[in-house]
Amino acid sequence: MLKIGCHISASKGYYAMGKLAVELGANTFAYFTRNPRGGSVRPLDEADIQKFVELAQEQHFAPLVAHAPYTLNACAADPGLREFAKNAMEEDLRRMDYMPGNYYNFHPGSHVKQGADVGIELIAEQLNQILRPDQKTVVLLETMAGKGSEVGRTFEELRAIIDRVEQKEKLGVCLDTCHVWDGGYDIVNDLDGVLQEFDAVIGLDRLKAVHLNDSMNPLGAHKDRHALIGEGQIGLDALVRVINHPLLRELPFNLETPTDDAGHAKEIELLRGLYKES
Ligand code: FE
Ligand code: FE
Ligand code: ZN
Repeated sequence: MLKIGCHISASKGYYAMGKLAVELGANTFAYFTRNPRGGSVRPLDEADIQKFVELAQEQHFAPLVAHAPYTLNACAADPGLREFAKNAMEEDLRRMDYMPGNYYNFHPGSHVKQGADVGIELIAEQLNQILRPDQKTVVLLETMAGKGSEVGRTFEELRAIIDRVEQKEKLGVCLDTCHVWDGGYDIVNDLDGVLQEFDAVIGLDRLKAVHLNDSMNPLGAHKDRHALIGEGQIGLDALVRVINHPLLRELPFNLETPTDDAGHAKEIELLRGLYKES
């Protein structure tokens, strides 16, 4: 069965998110661990998490893909901002230990004129301070569109981060279809070639999740504007090849398309209908 979900608002807690995901036809979902543009966080409610874990088991949920806030920048030039990023990620991972086996996805960071090499060093340094051998969550570096000074615009940059991290078994990658397309990887005409390149540079064993988005912009635009499934420059056929690809089809897919819950439910239904059950 296709493992697919979408971004769900975290405002009402885990159990409410799980119930909503089921209503939308999802069997995984993504959510922001804290206010995406601020950084504030809900109080930890263990009873709520326990109820959610039971629901997720009952419904055979695939792993969730939690998303760190956009304000988290592990390679900011300002040490205070790096400290915020470190504390936020550390606390998010401590909380996620209450629901083992899920993923925590983050944007590697923006190097803000320091250069990608410095960015890569800072990101790896921070991960080495945070990742613990006993943590119950695998942290995912997201492939980025390369807007501004984003680090992670090429597979090589992600590989360079991974190479510098000690707890490699706690580190994976989340491939965002809009971002790789905007980054110049032609998943429309050469999905096999892009996956071969991913495998050669990073290794497909590191690929743990996919963000399934169409893109408003052409290949290599470095813009990062998501479009509804089938309404962008990637198109429905290419995205259907992504969900059915033998190397991808077992991964959890999450939509981050610009629509509401009802819109996501329609996209989930559409994609489920186009998934070839094996
Ligand atoms: Fe993201
Ligand atoms: Fe994404
Ligand atoms: Zn994006």
